[in-house]
Amino acid sequence: MNLIDIQLTDFRNYRDLTLGFDPGVNLIVGDNAQGKTNLLDAIIYMGAGKSFRTQKSAELVRLGAEFADVSGNVFSQERKQSLRWVLFPAGRPRQLYLNGVKKKTAADIAGVLHTVLFCPEDLMVLKNGASARRRLCDQNLSQLRPNYEAALTEYNRILEQKSHILKDRYENPAVLQILPEYNTRLCQVGALIISYRARYFKALGEKAKIYHELFSGGSEQFHLEYKTVSTVTDPFASTEVLVGQLQEHLCSHERAELESALCLTGPHKDDFDITLSGMSVKSFGSQGQVRTGTISLKLAQRDLMASQTGELPVLLLDDVLSELDPGRQDFVLNQIDQGQVFITCCEPGRFTKLGKTITVRHGEICDGNVCTSL
Ligand code: ATP
Ligand code: MG
Repeated sequence: MNLIDIQLTDFRNYRDLTLGFDPGVNLIVGDNAQGKTNLLDAIIYMGAGKSFRTQKSAELVRLGAEFADVSGNVFSQERKQSLRWVLFPAGRPRQLYLNGVKKKTAADIAGVLHTVLFCPEDLMVLKNGASARRRLCDQNLSQLRPNYEAALTEYNRILEQKSHILKDRYENPAVLQILPEYNTRLCQVGALIISYRARYFKALGEKAKIYHELFSGGSEQFHLEYKTVSTVTDPFASTEVLVGQLQEHLCSHERAELESALCLTGPHKDDFDITLSGMSVKSFGSQGQVRTGTISLKLAQRDLMASQTGELPVLLLDDVLSELDPGRQDFVLNQIDQGQVFITCCEPGRFTKLGKTITVRHGEICDGNVCTSL
């Protein structure tokens, strides 16, 4: 799939813009605060009805404007399709059109324009706590496997109830009678989650490894390891085996859970680790290695989505080039030759052999020294 063009009226700092895109790489260059990330935000909004920077659609309307219009033509599902969103600053519900026909919700345009985004905030994912890493993968896996999303929702629901039981037991000790029932259910759903994750991380790691090795010119060996509950000896084992092993871990932590009133054991503590030539990125990775590793993961996630839907999502790489050495910059600019890619950067003089360069200044597109709203 690819975005053919976009029309923006009063979207963030864009007053009036019509812009055509290359089906390959689109390099968006400009100084800070000119509108590069806003353009990516518009593309994401068009496909998903959600901004990646704000939950308030009012913030997307240019300050002082009466409404914002985000429209574009997409080639996907083997045909040209048009999407249009009209957003209002306060109160009034937004409007959505697919091929000129009014639609109710973003679910009505599912599959028309998928995007995968890398943004600087993602860099913290490899360095920070496990919850951000779980979120990154849960989102992707939920898109790939709706049954996984259902299992995860169920798991989190039971976990929350168990948490209440552990906390309420001082005031009402009788609630402890129902605890074993919750533990059994947690182990059953937890085993399912581990099964899905084991397969997902295997596929993700294999794809990301290929990208990372291309990225680093073969100088670093990428390895992704899924880390789950310590009694699980093989996450690919049958769910019956996994249930038993989860119960074993729960039993050995029962007292600690009661004393701390916390749910200490289960796949809600899962994590994954990436090593480069045997060194953990989390503990030892350089800035460039963390960046390269994260982008490799995003490329792998994009491939997994393509194997599910048959179409490569549009890849959006925001502020991706800084801290990369020339070889790794060359990979980003000139070697991601599948599907459509948008790359933003502040550094002038960058060039891509795989598409076109777009210069943005004050929410307008510059052609040479002249800036025009095309
Ligand atoms: P950087 O290189 O620093 O990341 P950028 O080119 O990505 O910069 P953007 O994040 O796209 O910059 O933001 C450009 C400008 O858009 C900002 O100065 C911001 O104040 C402005 N802006 C954001 N939302 C609105 C809005 N609703 N109305 C008017 N201006 C807005
Ligand atoms: Mg930006």
